[in-house]
Amino acid sequence: MARIGFVGLGNMGLPMAVNLCRAGHEVVGFDLSADAMAGLEAAGGRLAANAPGVAAGADMVITMLPASRHVREVWLGGLAAAAREDAIFIDCSTIDVAAAREVAAAVSQPMLDAPVSGGVMGAANATLTFMVGGEDAAVEAARPVLEAMGRTIVHCGTAGAGQAAKACNNMLLAISMIGTCEAFLLAENLGLSHQALFDVASKSSGQCWAMTSYCPVPGPVPASPANRDYKPGFAGALMLKDLGLAQAAAASTGASTPLGARALELYEAFCAEGGAGADFSGIIQMLRGQG
Ligand code: NAD
Repeated sequence: MARIGFVGLGNMGLPMAVNLCRAGHEVVGFDLSADAMAGLEAAGGRLAANAPGVAAGADMVITMLPASRHVREVWLGGLAAAAREDAIFIDCSTIDVAAAREVAAAVSQPMLDAPVSGGVMGAANATLTFMVGGEDAAVEAARPVLEAMGRTIVHCGTAGAGQAAKACNNMLLAISMIGTCEAFLLAENLGLSHQALFDVASKSSGQCWAMTSYCPVPGPVPASPANRDYKPGFAGALMLKDLGLAQAAAASTGASTPLGARALELYEAFCAEGGAGADFSGIIQMLRGQG
């Protein structure tokens, strides 16, 4: 069993750290929030007085922080320096590709970027998907620890590749969600029922995850947030953040992503109109209002 330092015990990090405790690992955690720290202690973890404090003697150090700024601050502000030279570092936060590569290059220990999909339910149930960037040996050493928190581990390439996969996937998800919303709104105007469109499109060439697993109208997929007044799920603010990361990556590499750029504008408007805390599929209500 490994000795694991864990910084960032929020909505995602706490259940992930708790699953590591359940799997028998020795977890030492730190968060700026006292409530988050209490959650880890209740699950059998130990607490450190600050972020570098989790690293003493750790085989692996994991972070799950809000954004690039926090990841830079924590790792380069003392966490990496406090760790053993043979420790393996794993950042599971969703941050920009350039920041992931910069931090990995700045530390002397092997570092993986390993953002996740699956949300808070996936974190609680240890069914997350990890998209991993880094060297083979570090990925293989980390795999058993990642498997205690997730079900699918995909090694995407070298440093930054995990963040790249996350940015591409979530840009595609936003575009396909908006497209799915537009199809249902056009159906409404044409007098076609939601169920009829679903029955056709879910079995036809318009089929996509936003339609079949996360349908933005109530009825066809009973588990989708549309049936719970668009309670998240995956909040509009998080989708907006991920679209910003995708557009930053597109700008820095010269990729043409006109629909990604338009999706960013639409999610900006959705969040400004109060959708930041609602599920991202709730954008159908904003689009319907514009009709
Ligand atoms: P969160 O805000 O709930 O948790 C972040 C935690 O980091 C907080 O508890 C905060 O106190 C702590 N923190 C911030 N700065 C710190 C510092 N300097 N030292 C120690 N702790 C510090 O966020 P979350 O929902 O857990 O998301 C974490 C990451 O996972 C984000 O990058 C997010 O984009 C990504 N993500 C979230 C979801 C989701 O559904 N919530 C899904 C996939 C990916």
